[in-house]
Amino acid sequence: MLGEPPPIDAQLTAVITSTRGFMPDSEGVALRRWGIEALTRVGRTPIIEVGSYCGRSTLWLADAARVAGGHVVTVDHHRGSEEIQPGWEHHDPSVVDPRTGRMDTLPHLRHTLESAGVEEFVTVIVGRSATVGGLLRSGASMIFIDGGHGDEEARVDAETWIPLVAPRGLLAIHDVHPDPAAGGRPPYERIYRPALDSGDFTEIDAVGSLRVLERRS
Ligand code: SAH
Ligand code: MG
Repeated sequence: MLGEPPPIDAQLTAVITSTRGFMPDSEGVALRRWGIEALTRVGRTPIIEVGSYCGRSTLWLADAARVAGGHVVTVDHHRGSEEIQPGWEHHDPSVVDPRTGRMDTLPHLRHTLESAGVEEFVTVIVGRSATVGGLLRSGASMIFIDGGHGDEEARVDAETWIPLVAPRGLLAIHDVHPDPAAGGRPPYERIYRPALDSGDFTEIDAVGSLRVLERRS
């Protein structure tokens, strides 16, 4: 188990703060820390993020890759989840492409990675979660799932990605709410519970709605 990770650069903190997204700093700190741990445990395999949006969480993982000498692959179709479409509470009109009226967060992600100077540590994949997962059969040291939060999307993400976590690798899940009053249930019911109930994973950290599980073997 690693000690305290090196402190995060003030310039990177400034870019994170100015980036649109849904990752609270306390949870980002945990993601970065566990990212470093995962890359150290499981050599030569990337961190995979499902749900890049504009890169707010990606930056924490990218810094882990910089520190540990690894790489992040971040996957998103960039058309937004159902619950952030126009008309929904968390919709941000500034990520709509004015030409088409559809969401397009890819230019924002590119801008984020460039501003933070982390392009060399991150590969961006634009595509549907299940399609891309089928293409990546090599496994991962850590998979961070923060994509679609609908029942079916969360179920498909669990089916697609959980098997790809390498032995001793980490599965991090965002928006896990054991208490239904705190938020939507699919990440809890469809990803977190099945992973734990399979007996293959042990929980090693919980910060806000972030949960970190490790694969036993
Ligand atoms: N991790 C980000 C927030 C992600 S929001 C942060 O902390 O800031 C969820 C993202 O998942 C959205 O950008 C949406 O486009 C993406 N998404 C939802 N369902 C998806 C699917 N089936 N395939 C690919 N991306 C998906
Ligand atoms: Mg989230």
